[in-house]
Amino acid sequence: MEKKRYYHIRTTFLYMSHLSATDREIADIIEKERLRQLNGLELIASENLVSKAVLEAMGSIMTNKYAEGYPGKRYYGGCEFHDMAENLARDRLKTLFGAQHANVQPHSGTQANMAVYFAFMKLGETLMSMKLSQGGHLSHGSPVSFTGQFYKVAQYGVDPETEVIDYGVVEELARKERPKILVCGASAYPRTIDFKAFQEIADGVGAYCMADIAHIAGLCATGVHPNSVGVVNFTTTTTHKTLRGPRGGAIMCNTEYAQAIDKAIFPGMQGGPLMHTITAKAVCFHEALRPSFTDYSRQIVKNAKAMADTLIGHDLRLVSGGTDNHLILLDLTAQGITGLEAEIALGKAGITVNKNTIPNENRSPFVTSGLRIGTPAVTSRGMKEEQMHQIGDYIASILKDISNTAQIARIEKEVIAMAGKYPLYPE
Ligand SMILES: *Cc1c(COP(=O)(O)O)cnc(C)c1O
Repeated sequence: MEKKRYYHIRTTFLYMSHLSATDREIADIIEKERLRQLNGLELIASENLVSKAVLEAMGSIMTNKYAEGYPGKRYYGGCEFHDMAENLARDRLKTLFGAQHANVQPHSGTQANMAVYFAFMKLGETLMSMKLSQGGHLSHGSPVSFTGQFYKVAQYGVDPETEVIDYGVVEELARKERPKILVCGASAYPRTIDFKAFQEIADGVGAYCMADIAHIAGLCATGVHPNSVGVVNFTTTTTHKTLRGPRGGAIMCNTEYAQAIDKAIFPGMQGGPLMHTITAKAVCFHEALRPSFTDYSRQIVKNAKAMADTLIGHDLRLVSGGTDNHLILLDLTAQGITGLEAEIALGKAGITVNKNTIPNENRSPFVTSGLRIGTPAVTSRGMKEEQMHQIGDYIASILKDISNTAQIARIEKEVIAMAGKYPLYPE
């Protein structure tokens, strides 16, 4: 078994020939992970599969350079080609979203958010955002994050009946709390976000508005979801979710805020930029500018809707009753099982999802009553509505009979067969 895996490394993953010769332990781990990705169905809403071109840029010699500063203003010599790469990344990102200014240096989505807070909020000032348990993100003011400890936090949720954001309630809270920054954007919200409404609420109370589009960036770039850039003061994002690029972050804003944002990232809170990642971001943005990426983004949503229809057809309850984007939030209360149990059972069948809190959750975040399901990664593999219906059937069958190990084993075989038809890197 082990031998066969090494054989795979040498033949199919030629670019790792060096690694497999010098560090067998790590090469073997990577190969095991490759087989996991190949044989399973990745339905974690925040994950995706990058292109070979992005992989090559990330694994390139661009990592060998220190390039503290920004293009044309570096603290190290020899940065002429890094300037070219970073300028290209910035220009492509600006074109993609119609932004006046872009900073492509944040190491992650959290650091992009951190920079906006650092630039425009003093310690103890008020940050207003969506509750983590109702779809928000840790970096939006959770007590376990620096954001919850450095700033005063006021949070809105979703309407208990409709399970969508009630903008009237958000406005009322903003009037009462007078935040310095009003944050919108989420990690587990299946519906369209009205960025214009958020900016208007912020304007009404003299606050800045920040849209964190980490999850939906690819959809925003292609018009599949309304774009926040040019509508709100600051847009932050990751580059590795629906945007399908390397793991990292970015910030976009109007020129008037450019200097403050750039200074907050460097020297404010980061040292040398990850130039190999920035180079790979440029490749990702180039890919996202192609018409085929718009088709891809549309298919992500079509697939999520197809999966939602199938699950609803099996009498499962979706938070808010459906989806407008790339993700579905399932409420498992009626099935009498927890998110944790569901995640483990589906995992045994090769279907990777994550347990997730739902609005008005009464279980801990380690157990939860919900599941989050996303379609970006399987859509990258070329799967369409037909496969979503099939996967939806698998999920429903397992959730309805969670301890039926024979059924899980049978579905696992079918999952491997289905996944095999959609290779990660067909070329
Ligand atoms: C994923 C996510 C982030 C953070 O991204 P990291 O790169 O993991 O730090 C920030 N905000 C939202 C809404 C996210 O979903």
